[in-house]
Parts: sequence; C-alpha cells; structure tokens
Amino acid sequence: MTDSDGPASEMKADLETITSLAKRRGFVFPSAEIYGGFAAAYDYGPLGVEMKRQIRERWWRSMVQERDDVVGIEAAIITNPQVWVASGHVAEFTDPLVECLECQSRLRADHVENNTCPNCGAVGKFSEPRRFNMMLSTIVGPVADESARAFMRPETAQGMFVNFDNVQTTMRKRLPFGIAQVGKSFRNEITVKQFIFRTREFEQMEMEYFCHPDSSLDVHTYWKKERLRWYYSLGVRPQHLRLRDHTAEELSHYSKATSDVEVHYPWGWSEVEGIAHRGAYDLTQHSNHSGKKLTYFDPDTNEHIVPHVVEPAAGVDRIMLMLLLEAYDEEQLEGGDSRVVLRLAPGVAPVQVAILPLSRKDTLDPTARKVWDILRPFFRTQYDDAQSIGRRYRRQDEIGTPLCVTVDFDTLTDEAVTIRERDSMQQTRVPITGLVMALQERLLALEPHVPSIDEMVL
Ligand code: ATP
Repeated sequence: MTDSDGPASEMKADLETITSLAKRRGFVFPSAEIYGGFAAAYDYGPLGVEMKRQIRERWWRSMVQERDDVVGIEAAIITNPQVWVASGHVAEFTDPLVECLECQSRLRADHVENNTCPNCGAVGKFSEPRRFNMMLSTIVGPVADESARAFMRPETAQGMFVNFDNVQTTMRKRLPFGIAQVGKSFRNEITVKQFIFRTREFEQMEMEYFCHPDSSLDVHTYWKKERLRWYYSLGVRPQHLRLRDHTAEELSHYSKATSDVEVHYPWGWSEVEGIAHRGAYDLTQHSNHSGKKLTYFDPDTNEHIVPHVVEPAAGVDRIMLMLLLEAYDEEQLEGGDSRVVLRLAPGVAPVQVAILPLSRKDTLDPTARKVWDILRPFFRTQYDDAQSIGRRYRRQDEIGTPLCVTVDFDTLTDEAVTIRERDSMQQTRVPITGLVMALQERLLALEPHVPSIDEMVL
C-alpha cells in the first residue's frame, strides 16, 4: 500500500462516508448488529445483495457465458482435507503474526507501520514474528476428534484443479480452456479494519485457464488486458486502476509472472484481483498426492502434457466497495442546495428504475402500480410513494438509481409519464406505450465505454 495522496483525491468519499451510507440505505449492515456485531463480518441488505448479484452475473457472463472456451463449476466448500495438504495450504498458508508486548493485541507483522502498535502506540515492543495458519477449520461428523478435522476452503481455485479431469472428459475440452467458479471462501485474517475490503468470510470469482506451456506468457498478457476491460465496463475510471507486476522476490517459485489489479482505495493502492501464472504447480501437486494422472493429451503432437495455468482471481466484496467509492459524488446545485449521487453504471445499480407517483393520493396509485407492473419484468425497480417528490429523487440519487419515472395527474388523461435522469436531472415526457424502450435506450447510453482488446495497451 503506497501513494496515499494520488488519484483518490478525485474520489469524494472516505471509508467512513461509504460505510455510513451503506448502512443507512440498506447496502451493508454490521453482522448481527443487535448482538453488538461480530468482528469483520457483515450482512448485505436488500440493495447490497442486489448489487453483489449484478457483479457476479456480469463476471459470469463475461468469463463463462460469452466465451466458447470457459465452463463453470460449483465445488463443495468443505471437501477432503487432503486437497489442502496437496495445495500447500496446510503447510504454508500463513501470515507473520506479532504480539504487542504492551497491550497484547495481535497484528500482521507486514501491516505494522513505523514499528508502532496501532492499538496502544507502543514503539518497538513486539514479539518475534511467528507463522499463523489462516485456514478456518471445523469438525465434520459426530465424533469430535482430530481425524474429523476439515477446512473451510480458503480459495475456490482448488475446486477447479481437483475437477480438471472430470471437466476435461465430460466437456471434451481442448487446450486452451478455462474452468470458473464463484463462491464463498474463508480466511482467519489477523488484521481486519477496512470495512468489506478484508473479512473472514468473503466471496471470490476465480477462473483457471489451462493452456500449453509455450503460450502461457501470452495468455497471461491477454488476461491482464481482458480483466482491465471488465473493470472499465463496470464504470471504474482507468486512472483509479493499475496493474502491478510482482517483483522477483514476491513471485512463487512456480510462477513465471503474477500481476495484481490494484485500486486506489482511500488508504492507498490495494489489490482487488490477482492474475497469477501458476505454471504446472497445482495439477502436478494433485497428481502426486492423489496418484491420479492429471494431464492433457495433445492430439496434434501425440504428447501427454501437464498444462500451465493462468488464474484471474477477484473478490466480489472488494469490487463492491470499489464501485461505491468510485460512484460517490456530492454535487452543489443552483440555489445553494446540494445532493449526494451514486453515479453507478446501470448494469450494477441495485435499482435501475424507480416508479414515483407524484402524490400519495389514491387516484394516482392504481395507474402508477400499472406502470410498475409493465416495468418489473424488464428492470430492477422500486416503487416509492413516501414523502415529497424532491426527497424521493434525492433518495434515489443516493442509492444510484439512474432513472425515475414519475406518474402525475396528467398521466390519467395523456397516458404519458416523466422520465427523470439521475446525472443530468433532465426530465422528458414519454408515452407509456413506448416507456420500456425509452428507458432501455437511456440505460444503454449511460453504460461506460469499453475499449476493444486491440486498443488495450499495458
Ligand atoms: P491480500 O494480499 O489483500 O490478503 P491475497 O493476495 O491474499 O489478498 P488472493 O489469494 O489473491 O488474495 O485472492 C484473490 C482475491 O480474493 C483478492 O484479490 C481479493 O479480491 C479477494 N480476497 C482475498 N482475501 C480477502 C478477504 N479477506 N476479504 C475480502 N476479499 C478477499
């Protein structure tokens, strides 16, 4: 984490502002808040869950459904513990832990700044670092002894490696091809303080792309470009993203290249996704430990090879935090008024169209509800009739709703409604008959421009 005053100064929200908006508007709540919460655990509210869903769907569409070379799986979260022995997690998935000798708080050694305890301020009073395994474990079955110990997966990736052969044979896949998965992972993180950036239970979207060893570096470059394009498509401005190549010291012994996609969060540049070249490491490990051959027969050369792997691995929660920070804006309006707007891309906004009857009078309600019925199959909608229209527009601005549809007394006679746009606040009258199309056009026009892969220069 470096460069604390860089492009983030263009972002108008700090972590506290976003945390409070997220709670106030139903995106993210502290978990089990009525019991005082639970460290680093969060519950997603109605708007948060909708937004998270869109992030997953967009990823799945671009990584699986729109491609002819990637297929999906959903593996068990708690699986045979041997998987984690073979992958190296049992022996090596550790963080360096130090204890403050003054206040006994436990900290990740590489997160301690200036040799100072962030809890009590003591300087240089730390224990020697020791390795702390980050896997969360549990006991499976009715007998509580060590032989029943199993792990909550710390990543989804191993599910793809252990199913490599099953997928290859059932789907008749030829290299290069990928296997993708979205799901929860668990890590007993030592330092957890940045809202949903680092939690102990989180959601990953990972894809293992198996390729010929000779092409693996080109494949790695391709995925770096492709993944950046995906972030642009969510509305993240290019200046808030960067690729950071791992240094030789950071690289695992089996990796030829690894790059992180980093975002300028309020505290500095931090990883939102890792794009790792994992060589033949995982398939070889699982082959050695399971005794099963995990190779690919190349019909062109008549050779059996162990494919190499490139792995784009992203976190849903970190993406959601990034999008909220990116979208937050405070705008001064004419007449001294101001508003908070989340300028979310329509594709990820929890509500795309709000239906607002101008008054709560019974005369408007049936018509407004009819309009709502027409729109529900096409858009993520919300019906809001509480308080003044001005307040309702502000409320919708604050949750990032790109378009509002207002039903007023004229609607009863002219069968038209007003579309109000979030960003420009412009209002246009359109007939109900053409409303779906008019809204679709406007939403499309608000989607960010994404360069083609050929236009991408790293
Ligand atoms: P960090 O160095 O920040 O701990 P990492 O390099 O260990 O992250 P990976 O193992 O590469 O993370 O996992 C891939 C992605 O999963 C990360 O880029 C991140 O988006 C997400 N992720 C990992 N750990 C967490 C966590 N504790 N909370 C939320 N998301 C996480």
